[in-house]
Amino acid sequence: MKNAIPLRVKAAGAVAHGSAWRGELPVADLGRLAAAVAGREGSLRVELHAGRDASGAARLHGSIDGELELSCQHCLGRFRWPLRAAVDLRLVGSEAEERRLLRECEPWLVQDDSLPLREIVEDEALLALPIAPRCPACA
Ligand SMILES: [Zn+2]
Repeated sequence: MKNAIPLRVKAAGAVAHGSAWRGELPVADLGRLAAAVAGREGSLRVELHAGRDASGAARLHGSIDGELELSCQHCLGRFRWPLRAAVDLRLVGSEAEERRLLRECEPWLVQDDSLPLREIVEDEALLALPIAPRCPACA
């Protein structure tokens, strides 16, 4: 397991070798996520593995966790929110395959054999954010 999350890796090679990565990504370095939360402090601990599942399909799976600072929609106070997200993406090579799989799993369309790991982590973290955050006192 490599001790860093690269910006991007070659998809086919990572799947063939069963590559794995572990690392911390500062929230401040993830522009879209930093803009969506109340504070830019903190970082995400990330683990990712590429490989094939039992049916031979290429997948990227792993986990993201960390603490984010959010604004409560009710009292507008800031509070720390624990992010825990599982990553389980089916890596597909065409838009047709992506559409076909949308209902059974979360497909990721690989373009130019590139797997943008940090972009994927940021997408998954943004998807995990609560739509209407409430602090513990207002929940
Ligand atoms: Zn509140």
